[in-house]
Amino acid sequence: MATDEIARSRRLAVMGGTFDPIHFAHLLIAEDVRRRFRLPRVLFMPSGQPPHKDERAVTSAEERYIMALLATSDNPHFEVSRLEIDRPGPSYTIDTLRALKSELGEGAQLYFVTGADAVLEILTWRQPDAILDEATLVAVHRPGFDLARLDETLGARRASKITVIEAALANISSTMIRELAARGESIRYLTPRPVIDYIHKHRLYRRDEVAPEPLEETTA
Ligand code: NAP
Repeated sequence: MATDEIARSRRLAVMGGTFDPIHFAHLLIAEDVRRRFRLPRVLFMPSGQPPHKDERAVTSAEERYIMALLATSDNPHFEVSRLEIDRPGPSYTIDTLRALKSELGEGAQLYFVTGADAVLEILTWRQPDAILDEATLVAVHRPGFDLARLDETLGARRASKITVIEAALANISSTMIRELAARGESIRYLTPRPVIDYIHKHRLYRRDEVAPEPLEETTA
């Protein structure tokens, strides 16, 4: 499929998340969803201001956006959106889905992909039922996640509208990368090399007292 055809496609997955930082599991999940639903495009949507997070605890939206760009640049089917980053105020998912639908026009079909832990909280989000009407919700869970919790928490009617998939590379998480980087330990093979270089160059997640990163982490 040619690049301009991909860009024009109105069937797409929207990878919603904080991406602090983006890592290989996010990329593999995106590719899995793309293949599973035969979608030409995956749009990574870093939250500008995550609605349920303390702003000070999260890396700046611009830095998270740049890392997402670096991680996805070699895949013609992946794009990164500035929609939530450029929109002032908390990044409500319903606003994002409606903005995308209005931009894409008639026939737009969206798959909103995010972590199952986040989906469990959807009743606390703005207009949860409208979200379930606007997009197919894809909840990505790690092993050990009790799937019955979706039914129990959201009710059978809402849960039936949610597609559940198991995470690839489930032992990689953004929290793990932040913690390793904070201790000055290796984050090699957890996220693409350009993201590792960016994290080191900008000293993201570092505590002041830790020693400089090991030599193996730096590019020659
Ligand atoms: P989070 O707490 O950062 O993530 C929850 C869990 O899901 C983590 O284990 C996380 O792993 C995983 N995860 C996050 N995004 C993922 C993705 N795209 N694919 C697979 N796993 C993913 O959740 P969050 O990032 O704040 O929120 C998730 C999405 O829900 C965002 O798009 C956010 O804007 C939206 N949201 C909307 C509202 C609202 O509209 N009111 C409220 C809350 C959240 P990693 O840490 O490894 O990524």
